Amino acid sequence: MLLVAATHNAHKLKEIDAITAPFGFTLIPKDDVGLADVDVEETGSTFEENSLLKAQEICRLSGKPAIADDSGLEVDFLNGAPGVHSARFAGDDCDDEANNRKLLQLLGDLPLEKRTGRFVSVVTLVYPDGTVLAARGEVEGHILFQKEGDGGFGYDPLFRPLGHDRSFGQFTAEEKNAISHRARALAALQEKLQAL
Ligand code: IMP
Repeated sequence: MLLVAATHNAHKLKEIDAITAPFGFTLIPKDDVGLADVDVEETGSTFEENSLLKAQEICRLSGKPAIADDSGLEVDFLNGAPGVHSARFAGDDCDDEANNRKLLQLLGDLPLEKRTGRFVSVVTLVYPDGTVLAARGEVEGHILFQKEGDGGFGYDPLFRPLGHDRSFGQFTAEEKNAISHRARALAALQEKLQAL
């Protein structure tokens, strides 16, 4: 099934593609259907709302089924922040480096057992006939005291999933795709697709 991805994040695209390809999806980025300049505003206050906003708009504009991921890191000590603001935590034009620095500053020397949090992903698939399928995936873990590894993207080098002794930044792409929030959301979405 041809699917237009609502994201311009190359890392997310790669991860979504790696995970959806075995299920028979052919993922094409929105850039390939003439929508490179379309940046859907994330005005929602939940991952669900923002994921739906992005998928709906790309489906409407492309006339094809569209898939969107809205994701982020929730840190318990920060009452769930950065949450839906994960991409722009340190400011409008900030980068991963600045976001990671801000997170480390806010946590200071808080002991590891209190540095709990989770990555959350909500993937939404919207069909031109209006059918909407959405699924959430989460992976629990701890926020480390410093970056470990330089793989992945975003907060990966600061996040150590529960039951593992390495950060996501030290995982291979395959290892991360086996347990990530996005992988879990996509697996749940696949179940919903099968039930259609
Ligand atoms: P979105 O584009 O609004 O969904 O923003 C997602 C943001 O959350 C990214 O820019 C990252 O900062 C963070 N994020 C989401 N998923 C991951 C992940 O798998 N690893 C690291 N950071 C992530």
